Amino acid sequence: MLLRHTGKEIMERKALTINPAKTCQPIGAMYAALGIHGCLPHSHGSQGCCAYHRSALTRHYREPVMAATSSFTEGASVFGGQANLLQAINNIFTTYEPEVIAVHTTCLSETIGDDVNQIARKALLDGKIPEGKTVIHAATPSYVGSHVTGFANMVKAMFDQFAVKTDEKNGKLNIVPGFVEPSDMTEIKRVAAAMGVETIMVPDTSGILNGPQTGKYRMYPEGGVTVEELRSAGAGIGTLALGELASAPAARSLDNRCKVPCRVLDLPIGLAATDRFVDGLRKIAGVNVPDSLTFERGQLIDIVTDMHQYFYGKKVAISGDPDQLIPLVEFLASIDMIPSHIVTGTPGKKFEKRIKEITKDVPGTVNVKAGGDLFMLHQWMKNEPVDLLICNTYGKYIARDEDVPMIRMGFPIFDRVGHSYHPTTCYKGGIRILEKILDALLERADRDAPEESFELVI
Ligand code: SF4
Repeated sequence: MLLRHTGKEIMERKALTINPAKTCQPIGAMYAALGIHGCLPHSHGSQGCCAYHRSALTRHYREPVMAATSSFTEGASVFGGQANLLQAINNIFTTYEPEVIAVHTTCLSETIGDDVNQIARKALLDGKIPEGKTVIHAATPSYVGSHVTGFANMVKAMFDQFAVKTDEKNGKLNIVPGFVEPSDMTEIKRVAAAMGVETIMVPDTSGILNGPQTGKYRMYPEGGVTVEELRSAGAGIGTLALGELASAPAARSLDNRCKVPCRVLDLPIGLAATDRFVDGLRKIAGVNVPDSLTFERGQLIDIVTDMHQYFYGKKVAISGDPDQLIPLVEFLASIDMIPSHIVTGTPGKKFEKRIKEITKDVPGTVNVKAGGDLFMLHQWMKNEPVDLLICNTYGKYIARDEDVPMIRMGFPIFDRVGHSYHPTTCYKGGIRILEKILDALLERADRDAPEESFELVI
């Protein structure tokens, strides 16, 4: 009963967020930066911000996340952080020898107006950036948007500051996967490779934040998109951006600057969105869909057929990031579940419009809110109870309070392990989502079944 004060009466709130459904911009920027091989993310602000962002990522991925900080104190807060950042760049290249430093700002450095572009140029002119090394930077004020915005800004900075415009094509397709698990990046690359499409994934945290235990610590694990690949992104045959919020800004910017045609699709979560992804790969690269993928698709359909009787008419409350929620809600509606309450913490009216289109044939009222919070989701659940909650770790308090089964999806997940090793994207990921949902529903049915109908076979 931790949330026992949550009432049923819903009041209009503009200036107050209760139990946020998002986290701050630099976390997304830091996560994206870790997807460059040999990159050390750098937080231009106070130590507290950097410590929080590192610990959030470390707890979610269960890997030691390294990042540096400009360590603002009172002096830097008043006079600006240029001296701190110049010193930091010098120290980092001397001591930790990364290929790239990816600087993101914080609320404080944005508020005092530090011009990181100018500071990075000064570092170059002062000889603090060794030959062949690079400093990139993104503005990530946390009072705007969410961790998704921060991710999008850092990926855009990668294309803007690395990709070189050229008339020659490298025959490769750039894929911007969005703020997804490393396992999803592996899965998306696997599907593209199965279709014979050569790709450059920007960023690519697979192998970095879900790597093996080798007994040896490596500050820069194998994996990640290389600087060479980032430079050649400007010679790509096209860019596939998976997600309007996390991925599209970078792809559109590359299109404008380097004339690499971009296409924006939903994340391949569920059957229809994965079909669109596979079709997008087929059209852009001019390839055929192999039998192996048709087989996987058929397996997903078979599972839907086998499980449909348990999904039919079950109401779901969902919170997460917009790029994930759009295809997930579409998937749930397609298997005759009822997505009743949908909240994302990231603002954006387009999200609400899209969800309304997807759910127009869903029976009953569908509540949807972009820029909402988990308090609102809880209130909706109190007024219109559901059979299942899909949320990040913070949903567990609501699930316990309402005695509703819950499955964990999205970011952050602090209280379960394994999510960074198993994809929820593409056909195989769809099977995993369905398995998780069915397990949660049937566990609850078993728990509540009277002894005479506690069945061995269902
Ligand atoms: S919200 Fe702003 S001040 Fe707080 S941790 Fe994030 S960047 Fe730092």
